Amino acid sequence: MFFFFRDSVCLQKTASTGNLYKRSEKWYDINMCGIFGVYNVEEASKLTYLGLYALQHRGQESAGIASSDGAKIHSLVKMGLVSDIFSPDVFAGLPGRSAIGHCRYSTTGTSSIKNAQPLTVSYCRGQLAMAHNGNLVNADLLRSVLEADGSIFSSTTDTEVIIHLLAQSKKNTFEDMLVDSLKKVNGAFSLVVLTEKELIGVVDPWNFRPLSIGKKDNGYVLASETCAFDIIDAEYIRAVEPGEMIIINENGLRSIKPFKPQRPKKCIFEFIYFSRPDSYIFGQSVQKARKALGAELAKECKITAADCVIPVPDSANSAATGYASESGTPYEIGIIRNHYIGRTFIEPSQAIRDFGAKIKYNPVKEILNNKDLLVIDDSIVRGTTSRKLVKMLRKAGAKQVHWRISSPPITHPCFYGVDTPTRAELIGASHTVEEIKKYLKVESLCYLSADGMVKAVGGKKEDYCMACFCGEYPVEFNKEPDKMEFER
Ligand code: 5GP
Ligand code: SF4
Ligand code: MG
Repeated sequence: MFFFFRDSVCLQKTASTGNLYKRSEKWYDINMCGIFGVYNVEEASKLTYLGLYALQHRGQESAGIASSDGAKIHSLVKMGLVSDIFSPDVFAGLPGRSAIGHCRYSTTGTSSIKNAQPLTVSYCRGQLAMAHNGNLVNADLLRSVLEADGSIFSSTTDTEVIIHLLAQSKKNTFEDMLVDSLKKVNGAFSLVVLTEKELIGVVDPWNFRPLSIGKKDNGYVLASETCAFDIIDAEYIRAVEPGEMIIINENGLRSIKPFKPQRPKKCIFEFIYFSRPDSYIFGQSVQKARKALGAELAKECKITAADCVIPVPDSANSAATGYASESGTPYEIGIIRNHYIGRTFIEPSQAIRDFGAKIKYNPVKEILNNKDLLVIDDSIVRGTTSRKLVKMLRKAGAKQVHWRISSPPITHPCFYGVDTPTRAELIGASHTVEEIKKYLKVESLCYLSADGMVKAVGGKKEDYCMACFCGEYPVEFNKEPDKMEFER
């Protein structure tokens, strides 16, 4: 394989576009997460468990719940899946009418119980628990300053930086202390914070990650995605706005906007891949956006006659329905995904080749044999899974395989909370579409354009972060050589 770097698909190029970045293992501890909070409800910790269960797709490595009984915060945080961690007997240890929860995925090496959330701490005013979705870009610098000042950290998550800043704040109220600390951090944060008496939800001024407000009986709910409201029969009220802080206590719900306003930069990848299609995020339906992405893709790609449209399940199911109806090609289920792969699954070392893809996907020969296929996927990251899938489809009898992607090529890593690999590993960073087509061994390959993506999702291009598709990072990150390796 040879390497050169694609041009940006965005209109402007920043000075950083031509560089290669590598996340430092230590500090760029990526938090792909789901967060949830409830205030003033019966069985708050059980509702939080259900909410986290609905948000499990946002992070599968660790999960936790912190609850407040009005006087004390109780917490349980463990490695593993939500349904494995919380057995019926643990809820007695999580009493109270308010709670927050978190499920987390992290990159290898940083996955450990000490980084699992919510982080619960005691400080001069009492206790607090915090759950964070997103990544701060100046956490390392702040941490160095705090450590030089005597702070002792117990984890490597950037969330702990917020807690240390908060504990050092000289402001009078908890709310002001939190605002004071968040004014010092830069980057992506959607947070739920629980004190003995209050639940606070807050979103950074760019609104990288989603957070919504719901109503449950006489109480309130906050969640990354509204699928977590549906499971507990909560009513969706609205999305938390960019830079908004929601304070929920015995006086009801109050909103403030304490930060300097910024042009919103909502993560467009949430619509493409990350969120569940049955959710509303940033006030919009994910299903509607995903279907429109598929329809737009069908419009943009040159007409290709095929026997059927098949999605790579499950992430491309919705886009494929849009593609099928726009192109007038029948929708078929040609690949089945196994959802029950456990952590302890034992892979044979030699006996079965390409085993990785086989664990997850199996072809439906009845549909594929002797057929020309339009295969829809949401994205290509490294290209390795896609290549294996093509091979699998051919073996099942497919004649022609036309690959269709409902987003532009991923050319840059994310520093705001999605675990994309380094630039060197992203096939879209170093190869043209024609070269990727050859690597996948498909008859044709077509990606959606950046403009088509925005048109499908709706709204203005300037209101979305699209850095992984173009390298135009809306919030500058630390470029100190020891923290971020420059490769040219
Ligand atoms: P590749 O062919 O690049 O190895 O894999 C492509 C698949 O990766 C697509 O089906 C896409 O849905 C999936 N994908 C995209 N982003 C992510 C991500 O952040 N995490 C995981 N696990 N899969 C992803
Ligand atoms: Fe989302 Fe990509 Fe921006 Fe990260 S870089 S916030 S994944 S759009
Ligand atoms: Mg997928």
